[in-house]
Amino acid sequence: MIIILHPDTSIETPDGKAVFDFLSARSGITPQVHTVSGAGRTLTEIYAVGDTSTLDPQELSSLPAVERVVRVSREYRMIGRHAGDDRARGFTYNGIRFDQNALHLFAGLCAVDSQANVESMMQALQEHELPCTRMGAYKPRTSPYSFQGHGAECLPWVFELAGRYDIKVIAMEVTHDSQVDEILEALDASGRPTGVMLQIGTRNTQNFELLKAVGRQRELPVLIKRGFGITLEESLNATEYLANEGNSNIVFCLRGMKTNLGDPHRNFVDFSHVPAVKHLTHLPVCIDPSHSVGSRNQGVDGLLDIMHVTAQGVIAGANMVLVDFHPHPEQALVDGPQAMLLEELPWFLEDMQIARQAWEKRIELARHNLTTP
Ligand code: PEP
Ligand code: MN
Repeated sequence: MIIILHPDTSIETPDGKAVFDFLSARSGITPQVHTVSGAGRTLTEIYAVGDTSTLDPQELSSLPAVERVVRVSREYRMIGRHAGDDRARGFTYNGIRFDQNALHLFAGLCAVDSQANVESMMQALQEHELPCTRMGAYKPRTSPYSFQGHGAECLPWVFELAGRYDIKVIAMEVTHDSQVDEILEALDASGRPTGVMLQIGTRNTQNFELLKAVGRQRELPVLIKRGFGITLEESLNATEYLANEGNSNIVFCLRGMKTNLGDPHRNFVDFSHVPAVKHLTHLPVCIDPSHSVGSRNQGVDGLLDIMHVTAQGVIAGANMVLVDFHPHPEQALVDGPQAMLLEELPWFLEDMQIARQAWEKRIELARHNLTTP
């Protein structure tokens, strides 16, 4: 059960505390306080965890601080959509709004390599007024002999360059909780010129201790990739770990499934699940066309497969696109063969825009058909 307090009523106020105390006094119920920062206002929600069958929603609603009470379904208590639950969800981070209506492009390097390449990438993004990027400093690699990423050592200059080129959010994978501290320390040391969205990679989707650690910190939002060999339900339950620890600023990312049924793509593209995830949860949904397709294969129509699947995700309502670009793919230390070229960025943007407009028209059409008898 979720007890939503009136806007800007915090748990520190006497009325807010009264709700918390009311729940604490009930045996078998543990109240958990969550703060949701929306555009311009802050909402406090208290999750009553445990056997809620004895709680009377009407009694709770009559407490002065309570705006509304939502009974949650058993699944995905924190990230799920629940009957009668029409709260506007999403979050704002470093001035960028993430929700189920937004669309942001996170084009960038799979792995940070040289300062010159990072700078060329960020300069191109700034020229196109794109405030987000991807930059991998910690890379989970199949072989221990492969390049593992520059790690903490590159963070100061990556953040400094990001500030110089107006980058507001960098998606950056972490494979161990100590890396979260390294990122926070480097952000502090550099005077916070940019922001970081922590990325949980597909190999770590069910690394529950990492999820708990990342979920415990509430400052940096989290992009969690769907596990490549588990069900959607298992991946969403893994996502629930983040929210359950207190961090509900989450984006869920589809990145293809590991099976040779997807050949010739690196993974079996699963972007038809964009509407499914938006329906099951209130999370913004990201697609990763690069790790899904895994090559620069070009179709007979002249479009790269990466562009085709991006369009498929965007036309279905994706809210974020995480895609590998590189100024010199032959110099890339990770995943060069699947990187788009900087010269292709305007083309990619325009093609994505066509798909976005098609999605908007489809929403209009649906609205019209739903309201016309
Ligand atoms: C990545 O985005 O750099 C990455 C390693 O992706 P995934 O975890 O989906 O393989
Ligand atoms: Mn990669």
